[in-house]
Amino acid sequence: MSQFIAPDYYALDELLSDEQKIARGAVRDWVNREVKPSIEEYSEKSEFPKHLIKQMGELGAFGPFIPEKYGGTGMDYITYGLIMQELERGDSGIRSMASVQTSLVMLPIYEYGSEEQKEKYLPRLASGEIIGCFGLTEPNHGSDPGSMLTKIVDKGNYYLLNGAKMWITNSTIADISIVWAKDEQGIIRGMIVEKGWEGLTAPETHGKLSLRASVTGELVFDNVKVPKENLLPNIKGLKGPLNCLSSARYGIAWGVLGAAMDCYDTAVRYSQERIQFGKPIGAFQLQQKKLAEALTEITKAQLLAWRLGTLRIEDKATPGQISMAKRNNVFMALNIAREMRQVLGAMGITNDFPIMRHMMNLESVITYEGTHDVHLLITGHEITGIPAYK
Ligand SMILES: Cc1cc2nc3c(=O)[nH]c(=O)nc-3n(C[C@H](O)[C@H](O)[C@H](O)COP(=O)(O)OP(=O)(O)OC[C@H]3O[C@@H](n4cnc5c(N)ncnc54)[C@H](O)[C@@H]3O)c2cc1C
Repeated sequence: MSQFIAPDYYALDELLSDEQKIARGAVRDWVNREVKPSIEEYSEKSEFPKHLIKQMGELGAFGPFIPEKYGGTGMDYITYGLIMQELERGDSGIRSMASVQTSLVMLPIYEYGSEEQKEKYLPRLASGEIIGCFGLTEPNHGSDPGSMLTKIVDKGNYYLLNGAKMWITNSTIADISIVWAKDEQGIIRGMIVEKGWEGLTAPETHGKLSLRASVTGELVFDNVKVPKENLLPNIKGLKGPLNCLSSARYGIAWGVLGAAMDCYDTAVRYSQERIQFGKPIGAFQLQQKKLAEALTEITKAQLLAWRLGTLRIEDKATPGQISMAKRNNVFMALNIAREMRQVLGAMGITNDFPIMRHMMNLESVITYEGTHDVHLLITGHEITGIPAYK
């Protein structure tokens, strides 16, 4: 039985619709029941709990904003955010899986795909029958994906794909990959590559000390024949993958709130139970400072996420605004994990409590989908009109 109490200091729940609260409640209950009891074990084994994928599909965690016609639930972007928040309260790896499936695989097919591609892939992605991954980052091109080397050559009735992608979430378990590659004119194109095609391999990346309950690997293309009908017809250029990343980064801004809330809630409870010098440690000013600052930062981050959500629903959220929220909220969550861990003293470093796992996970989240520094430079660009990142 979970004792979790979600912080809502500024009564943000009053701004949510009944549908949004119902969706959040369903995912919250599921995380308590299915994720929390075993996630430490999976993280320790460095294994993704694959048996949860179908359940996540049934919950509506994949493509909540995709119309029902294609297997989604047609919900709004705040509901998507709340679902990401609850999943990440369980583990950033679980949220990452759902983020990739939703924003980086279903979204490009929905936005840029042909009707045939939508009908073929979206319902099965929504149900979790098939899993997707998103191949943008390369061994030598991370923050600068526009310089990618992966390429396609037109061979008449198919494209020949060559190159390699690295740090790809879900790569080894993916049935399909959304791959971004340059054509002979140097224009970035997106395509759907299926598992099992000759020349495609997906070796796993080992030795991660962060996001351990998540699959990460490479995608290597050695003369892979991509049928022409697998190209995403309605997008050309870097804005294709960047639009997908905007949606995923938006979800991260919400998701990390879940990790922060879990750390905060754990520390509040511990501070009331742990007795030192004859008093609960929560009675000492220095511990209250940590808790009060954590609640302040969570509240500010909640307001940022909620307002960004309303802008996104109105289709007005800019990439710069999304960068600001992703950067602020991940940093907030990581700092809270570090501070709340100290409230638990030595117990804070064990896996009897979730804080250390969240902290380690957040070290990936602060780097992927655009690093902390690069997001700051995006804001700097908007302030000055000068892109300092190139
Ligand atoms: C667990 C995990 C999962 C991931 N999943 C995916 C995935 O599913 N699909 C995918 O395509 N990618 C994925 N990534 C890759 C991720 O998006 C990249 O790691 C990220 O974009 C940063 O690239 P890089 O690691 O090559 O760092 P680099 O770009 O080499 O950056 C190294 C450092 O230099 C800084 N830097 C770089 N350029 C500048 C600049 N212009 N000005 C100032 N500082 C700069 C960065 O901020 C960083 O601190 C994942 C990464 C991780 C860790």
